[in-house]
Amino acid sequence: PAQSMEELVSLCKRRGFIFQGSEIYGGLQGFYDYGPLGVELKNNIKAAWWRSNVYERDDMEGLDASIIMHRLVLRHSGHEATFSDPMVDNKKNNKRYRLDHLVKDQKADVMARVTELMGQSAENFPALVAALNANPAQASTALREAGVRDPFSGEVGEWTEPKPFNMMFKTTIGPVADEDSYGYLRPETAQGIFTNFKNVVDSTSRRLPFGIAQIGKAFRNEITPRNFIFRVRELEQMEIEFFCVPGTDEQWHEHWLEKRLSWWEAQGVPRSKIEILDVPKEDLAHYSKRTYDLMYDYPTLGHEEIEGIANRSDYDLGSHTKAQGELGLVAKVEENADSVAKLTIPHPDTNKPVVPFVIEPSAGVDRAMLAVLSEAFTKETLENGSERIVLKLRPHLAPIKVAVIPLARNREEITSVARAIKGELQGLGLGRVLYEDSGNIGKAYRRHDEVGTPYCVTVDFDTVGKGEDPVLTDTVTVRDRDTLAQERVKISELSSWIQAKLR
Ligand code: ATP
Repeated sequence: PAQSMEELVSLCKRRGFIFQGSEIYGGLQGFYDYGPLGVELKNNIKAAWWRSNVYERDDMEGLDASIIMHRLVLRHSGHEATFSDPMVDNKKNNKRYRLDHLVKDQKADVMARVTELMGQSAENFPALVAALNANPAQASTALREAGVRDPFSGEVGEWTEPKPFNMMFKTTIGPVADEDSYGYLRPETAQGIFTNFKNVVDSTSRRLPFGIAQIGKAFRNEITPRNFIFRVRELEQMEIEFFCVPGTDEQWHEHWLEKRLSWWEAQGVPRSKIEILDVPKEDLAHYSKRTYDLMYDYPTLGHEEIEGIANRSDYDLGSHTKAQGELGLVAKVEENADSVAKLTIPHPDTNKPVVPFVIEPSAGVDRAMLAVLSEAFTKETLENGSERIVLKLRPHLAPIKVAVIPLARNREEITSVARAIKGELQGLGLGRVLYEDSGNIGKAYRRHDEVGTPYCVTVDFDTVGKGEDPVLTDTVTVRDRDTLAQERVKISELSSWIQAKLR
């Protein structure tokens, strides 16, 4: 695995996985562009998730909802009121920080001041942040007296009172910018699933339990985007909302925890690198009955959330439904006078309408990329003493499956055979197969090691009957990325050989 974030950042840029967004105009913080290899790896991760969670199950449907949503969706979901982080400004340099990020490194000092100023101590870090947020005037004093430093300048800052900052991106819809003509870029894909619940049920005749899966972009105006693609403002999520009979929710929660851990394992991210955080009651989001956060051990950052698996009770459908009063909701929801749909489904035993409970496994594609790359990253010292970097990606995730390399790029008899092989292998539908005549063979091997290509196929003079050994006619050399073994394979058997290896 990678030892530092820096190693990954440099590989990603050098080989074309990830670039800074809007780079030629100085870059835009919190936005990244996925390059030629990044888009392949990302697509492969998403395809693996879709295969496992939609195709390989019979209790799941897919969805692709729109990104810009009606403001009432985000009002009734609770995001207008609560999707905000407290933040503070440093009056000395006008830099703005998230309160929790700012306090994190000096929490002992701040805690001591809070105890003194507010006459009570907070029992943990979230409680400390909550106390500061609830008492803005004293918070600003506490930050000053504790001598909290500005992470940018390193100097003690002059801090304002914490203010809530809503992280949703708002945009004008249509030609007239009046009071009601705005919508939001969705801050999570989940809301599109809840608002389509009735459509999916009615069009598929689903009965409980079943789930809806969606992959797509979400947008959060993070105050401090950082750590490469770990915290970005335009992100992609892979989310499932699994609807079940109230009372069976705890079992399904455990089911999904297990499923998701084994999926990560199959992508090369082992369980031993993921800590399961059973989020303490007092830290739970208002809609959550219980949440497991999967905390992957990122290089440089340490354990940070890669996926959250939440039991959201009947909060979401209960918030978006009409006739809330008749439905015996368990969750505490705000009144909804706007919705025109009753979001219920017949109970499988009684046939009475019921608002199902929801289990939500929600993973970030960008954070998945980072974890997959980090686990695959390997530095090896070879027998001859030289060092190589190799990405030991699982073959189904590799951006390029096979590179076909003609040993001489100006010899028609060789290049035509190589092109024919590329065409045949491409036709297998395994993913990208690359015809590669960009440099000498050693350089090509090094490049393909670094981007994780499982096999390189070389067409040489022996292949076309112009070498030393006539027995080698119509055979090619196949080089294995991980073992470096080179094997001579008959062209007529190459497709099935590759297919067997990449399955
Ligand atoms: P964090 O506490 O790190 O901000 P969160 O608890 O707000 O994350 P959720 O709302 O649970 O995250 O979102 C589900 C998943 O979406 C996360 O597990 C993560 O993989 C991904 N995600 C959330 N915010 C971001 C972001 N700003 N950049 C990249 N991925 C993100």
